[in-house]
Amino acid sequence: MAPPTQHETRRSRREGGAVSRPLPTRRELRERGSADAHHGPAEQPAPAVYRRRRLVAGVLALVLVGGAALAVGGVVSGMTTEAPERTDAVAALIGDARADAPRATVLPAPAQSGQAAAAVEPDAARGEPAPADLCGDPAVSEALASGSDADVIAAAGGAEPFRVAVASGAAPCIDLHAAGRTWVVVNKLNALDPIDYWPEPQARAEGVERTSGGHMRADVAAALSQLVGAARAEGAGEIGVNSGFRSYDRQVSTYRSYVGQLGQRNADLTSARPGHSEHQTGLAVDIVACDAGCGTIERFGGMAQSEWVTANAHRFGFIVRYGDGDTAITGYEYEPWHLRFIGIDLATRYAEGGYRTLEDFFGLPAAPEYAG
Ligand SMILES: [Zn+2]
Repeated sequence: MAPPTQHETRRSRREGGAVSRPLPTRRELRERGSADAHHGPAEQPAPAVYRRRRLVAGVLALVLVGGAALAVGGVVSGMTTEAPERTDAVAALIGDARADAPRATVLPAPAQSGQAAAAVEPDAARGEPAPADLCGDPAVSEALASGSDADVIAAAGGAEPFRVAVASGAAPCIDLHAAGRTWVVVNKLNALDPIDYWPEPQARAEGVERTSGGHMRADVAAALSQLVGAARAEGAGEIGVNSGFRSYDRQVSTYRSYVGQLGQRNADLTSARPGHSEHQTGLAVDIVACDAGCGTIERFGGMAQSEWVTANAHRFGFIVRYGDGDTAITGYEYEPWHLRFIGIDLATRYAEGGYRTLEDFFGLPAAPEYAG
């Protein structure tokens, strides 16, 4: 999908003001089954800093790939001990690219599975050629300009060449912050760009029960309809929508409410700071089981629908974004109900590769905490 226009950005500001009504308490939210995580940060690192950071990381990656594998391991393991620091932003202001050096840790993250590790790291170990120069390929540039994410991935030669190029830092033209792209990574270290992004067009998933407004990006709604239909046809039962798109402004008030009730530390485990919520992209949806009336998100895990979704969501372009035991990487507790759309190509590669987090998939550092 094309990057947001100025009009979209203005609209989000204009329409966002209508959300300052009193919010339900956490208990009320739980009882309603809408107490989901990832809503987003008071201090937002400038997206430009991240973009430049990745560019530098990309150059470093290429240098490291040419070096000895043992040296790469040593450098990476040494760097990973460095916590994210506000000095990055200060250094960026004075143009000192060296301050970005620790970000070389965006090189292949410790893999969660042997298959995932084999996908990236052996290139350096075996001295194979560096990833393709996607950004120098006119077909990729043309596809990027067209706004079709599927065309970009096709021009890159498929999901795996695309992923390898991005994960190795060799594709700076693929912006993992761009809110309108299916490959956007939104976490505690990556804010949306623009911060108040508003996805359009939006729609509800046809033929799907819902317990809330349930809007999402139109293409995501269509994919969800297919997923729900397949789950039904394959005997997994009925799936309904609990929550879809949430605006930046709604997240401001939601997060503030959580902090007031739980304190900031606990609030950050369950509610994203504004600009850091996947729900703001229109690509995320919380689902529930609707066998005899729709249940709550907290009761979704372990149900037949949840098991089916875990095994089959990729067929429709979705992943379960916050896995069980991945809090140290994602920054969130297990949320079997929270689906994230990344498109069928990437989702299939994600599933086949045994990936558990988008951070690992794209070689990004773990994001358990906010930078500031
Ligand atoms: Zn969610």
